[in-house]
Amino acid sequence: MNDAQSVSVSEQVPVAGEWDVVVCGGGPAGAAAAIAAGRLGRRVLLIEMQGRLGGLISNANIGTFCDTPGGPIFDELIGRLEALGAARVLRNLERYYPPGRWRCHPGTTATVLLEMAAAANVELMMMTVAERALVEDGAVSGVLVVNKAGRSLVRARVVIDCTADADIAAGAGAPFVQGDPEDGRIQHCNFRWGVQGVQTESLPPPEELEALCTEAVASGAIRPPDAIFGVDRDCFPFSRATGKLVLGGWELQHVDPTDPRQTTEATAQCQLAGLQIVRFLRERVPGCADCMMSSAGIFTTRESRRIVGEYTVTGEDVLAGAKFDDGAVPAWFWLDLHDPEPGLSTPYTLEFVQENRPKPGDWYEIPYRCQVPREVDGLLVAGRCISCDHPAQGSLRVIPTCMYLGETAGTAAAWAVEAGVEPREVDGIRLKRVLNEEYWRPPSYD
Ligand SMILES: Cc1cc2nc3c(=O)[nH]c(=O)nc-3n(C[C@H](O)[C@H](O)[C@H](O)COP(=O)(O)OP(=O)(O)OC[C@H]3O[C@@H](n4cnc5c(N)ncnc54)[C@H](O)[C@@H]3O)c2cc1C
Repeated sequence: MNDAQSVSVSEQVPVAGEWDVVVCGGGPAGAAAAIAAGRLGRRVLLIEMQGRLGGLISNANIGTFCDTPGGPIFDELIGRLEALGAARVLRNLERYYPPGRWRCHPGTTATVLLEMAAAANVELMMMTVAERALVEDGAVSGVLVVNKAGRSLVRARVVIDCTADADIAAGAGAPFVQGDPEDGRIQHCNFRWGVQGVQTESLPPPEELEALCTEAVASGAIRPPDAIFGVDRDCFPFSRATGKLVLGGWELQHVDPTDPRQTTEATAQCQLAGLQIVRFLRERVPGCADCMMSSAGIFTTRESRRIVGEYTVTGEDVLAGAKFDDGAVPAWFWLDLHDPEPGLSTPYTLEFVQENRPKPGDWYEIPYRCQVPREVDGLLVAGRCISCDHPAQGSLRVIPTCMYLGETAGTAAAWAVEAGVEPREVDGIRLKRVLNEEYWRPPSYD
């Protein structure tokens, strides 16, 4: 899109308003970005295409927040959730970095984020798609949005792209990459679904369940989706080792999350296979006569576009515990790549996890420059689509790090507006001092 086109589009649509900071996407990154900018007194609009905040937390019921720092806003969120009995920490010092891995209630998390956003005077525009950036003189100056009222333009001094897929940055002409540079392969997508109403005490022993499942696929009673990875392990909602119900979903390979034709096909196949499985279970498997799908399921994405920013954090940086003057976000989660090599995915051994993360007690830092896109001004990016290579994305895509990146972007955007400068001119060393050194302490194993 060139400038002339952008301006002509802006002339044809009504202007919905003007804000200091417009945040696109209300997931972990976007919610934290909006709260941070709002707390610093900026007028903030948060645009979210669903009817709730939390992104994958609430849309896909992901209630496990991995073991790595999440920043002051994340810590406050956890404190509020704990007070509601909606968060607890799992400690396992061999596998998880201290303090451990958080288990939180997804719906409560979404509403507490909403409460925090409201307290920070963040204005919300939900059920609204941020369609694309308005670019004027090489800088993003607003976003075209679409909702049930039609299309309109929201003007902004700074836009923060927290769409997880860098929708706004890509549309603004910012450079981006996708997947492994060798073959373009991205981490597995996932179809989250489950079965409810099973009388587990009446289920057959694991080996009998295994035989029934194998026969169902062999006979054609169940047609596994084309994209499913590891059919043997994942096709059924039961662990074949223990016979227990597994609520998690299917790993899907070779699906491009930015291609609606592919995602629609994969989603439809998974939903239909889920229905076939439920029919089969009801008819053939003891204990399942009254079972049904717990929901129609949802297609989820681990990795898609990654912007090319002023710095690109790498897998080597993660393993070496790289530190930077503007390294505002400390992190230590491991390189949790689903399908780093063909056929390799979770569950990984403890040794594999330990070999693929910073040394015990150490951490790496994500420079602020990773959130500043090359070539385009007026724009910051937060969440899983910042500037990183394919291996590093396996570490920094987790919820606490995405929230920390959001808080950094929201703070930087507020400072940029206050000083009347571009986001790329914000002092990254000061950001690090305020958001990292004044808040955070290295992991302690006491
Ligand atoms: C199957 C699966 C399991 C996972 N398990 C864990 C786990 O156990 N622990 C962990 O810490 N992490 C886990 N993750 C990773 C983590 O959930 C995500 O990487 C993280 O949520 C990314 O945060 P985000 O804010 O960048 O994006 P998202 O959480 O995807 O949020 C993006 C938000 O933007 C909205 N949006 C997108 N485009 C637009 C648009 N154009 N206009 C308006 N709104 C838009 C979306 O509706 C969404 O609300 C998992 C991911 C997957 C897929």
